[in-house]
Amino acid sequence: MISVADAREHQEVLLSDLKALVEIESPSSDKSSVDHLAEFLASRLEYHGGHAQIHIAEGFGNHVQADFPGVSESKPILLLGHIDTVWELGTLKQMPFRVADGRAWGPGVLDMKGGIAVAIHAMALLREHKVPHAAVRMLFVSDEEVGSHSSRAITERLALESQAVLVLEPGQGLNGAVKTERKGVGVYEIRVTGEAAHAGVEPGKGASAIHELAYQVGVLDGFTDPHRGLTVNAGLIRGGTRSNVIAAEAWTEVDVRIRTAADGRAIDSKVRGLRPRNDRCRIEVTGGINRPPMERTDKVVALYRKAAEVGRSLGLKIDELPTGGGSDGNFTAALGVPTLDGLGVVGEGAHAVNESILIDQLAPRTALLAGLIAAL
Ligand SMILES: [Zn+2]
Repeated sequence: MISVADAREHQEVLLSDLKALVEIESPSSDKSSVDHLAEFLASRLEYHGGHAQIHIAEGFGNHVQADFPGVSESKPILLLGHIDTVWELGTLKQMPFRVADGRAWGPGVLDMKGGIAVAIHAMALLREHKVPHAAVRMLFVSDEEVGSHSSRAITERLALESQAVLVLEPGQGLNGAVKTERKGVGVYEIRVTGEAAHAGVEPGKGASAIHELAYQVGVLDGFTDPHRGLTVNAGLIRGGTRSNVIAAEAWTEVDVRIRTAADGRAIDSKVRGLRPRNDRCRIEVTGGINRPPMERTDKVVALYRKAAEVGRSLGLKIDELPTGGGSDGNFTAALGVPTLDGLGVVGEGAHAVNESILIDQLAPRTALLAGLIAAL
C-alpha cells in the first residue's frame, strides 16, 4: 500500500514534471506543438517503465498510449486523459508556470496536465514499492477540448478491452470530489433561409430569416427542462445584412446537455423536427449529440465505492458529485465499462486565467490513484 507520506516523497519531482508539461504549450489547434508534447510525454512514460506508442492523427495532434505490464491475469485498467489545452500559443508569457501561495499556476495545470503528472508518479510509486497490480494502460489524447473526433475510436477500443476506466480530469471543487455522472453534450447548427426584400418599399415581398429564427430560439428555450437536467442554449447567433433589408439568412449554434441517453434521443428528434412558422422560410438543422451522458450506473457506483474505501484507508474523504461538463469518460461509460472521473488534481479555474492547483493535494491524489489501481 502506498501511503500519502510515500507519495509526498515524489512531490518535488512531480512538480518539476508538471512544470515541463505545462511549459510545452499544446493548444488543440496547433498540431506541431501538441505532437512535440506527445513525444516528450512518451519518453517520460518509457522512463517510468511504460511501453509507449504514438497514434498518428491527421489534422489533429497525435495521441500517446503507454502500456505497463501487470502481475495479475485480469484485464488492464485504462487511465484516460488529454494533453491538449484551450490555451493559445504564447499564453505562457502572461501566465507562466509558477508556484505561489501553496498553489501551482499556469495554462493547463489543472485541466489536465496535473492529472498526467499524478498518473506518472502513481505508476512510479507502485513500481518503486513493488506493489502488485493489474496491467495499466494510459491513453492521452490530443483533441479532447475540441470534441475528441480523431481519438474517440481509440478510446472506445481500449475501453472495451479494459476492466475499468479511471479518468484523470480534475476533481470537482476544492475538496476534489470525483465525478460519477456527467451530462451528455449535443451541438446543433440551425440555418434559416428566408427571402430578402427592401424593408420599406416592398416589405410584403420578403420573408425574414431573422424573425423566423428569433421565434425558433423561443421554441428551443421551451425545450429546457431543469428538473431533468436538460438544458438548451443558443450560444451564437448571426444573420442579416442591414437594418433596411429583410434578412434572407440567419444562423444559430446551440448547445444541448442531457442526463440520460433517452433524453438525448428525445431532444435530438425535437431539434431536428423544428418546422418554420413562416412557410416561406426554410430551416436546416445539422449536428447532433456528440458526447453521450455518463450515467451514474451501478458499475460506476461500485467503482466509486472502491475509490472511497481506498481513500478511507489513506485517511482521505472522497466525495462524489455530478457535473454538466463532458469528458472522454462519457464515451467509455456509455459503452458500459465501469468509469470513474475526476481522479486528477484538485484546484480551480479550468479554462480561466486563475487556473491553479493545490500543491498540498498532489500527494493524496497520487496515493489515491496508486491505491485504486492496486485494489482493482
Ligand atoms: Zn479536461
